[in-house]
Amino acid sequence: MHDKLAAAIRTVPDFPEPGIQFKDITPLLADATLLRFAVDALAAEWKGQGITKVLGIESRGFILGAMLADELNAGFVPIRKEGKLPFTTIKESYDLEYGQDIIEMHIDAVSATDRVLIHDDVIATGGTAAATHRLTEFAGASVVGFSFLIELSFLNGCDRLPDGTPIHALMSF
Ligand code: AMP
Repeated sequence: MHDKLAAAIRTVPDFPEPGIQFKDITPLLADATLLRFAVDALAAEWKGQGITKVLGIESRGFILGAMLADELNAGFVPIRKEGKLPFTTIKESYDLEYGQDIIEMHIDAVSATDRVLIHDDVIATGGTAAATHRLTEFAGASVVGFSFLIELSFLNGCDRLPDGTPIHALMSF
């Protein structure tokens, strides 16, 4: 099944810009059996750990993140690019190759009693996930771990995540 999962990830060269090998997860999402398998396998890693909220990173992190939240009986919180959330937010910036980007979370999205799982479809450089971790800690909640469908291991993104926080990626390319 793991081979079938990997085969359902389509690599699109030079998208959205030259030199990027984009990992397109839509063939996996469109296959009912593979989708079920992926969500079960992602959730299995975190069952019984008292996760209360799954934070999904915009925008592809919303899809499996919300399914993961359902599977873990947790709530779902969207982490969005600046300017998209309607209520009062807290923000965190992170460095890109050129310049900076900003992510936001609603100020009341998590509280001190929350045990949070951070999810995205792909970890590349790790900058977005690391910024989400900082934002969560600033809000006073505990980060139990990081969950990714795909790790791009050649970019060593996991090295940018805080030491001691468990990281699970279902596939590594
Ligand atoms: P990162 O560099 O880890 O902060 O990744 C930034 C965002 O872009 C994450 O939400 C990733 O899901 C997405 N991303 C980065 N590189 C790729 C790629 N090669 N294929 C698909 N998504 C990517």
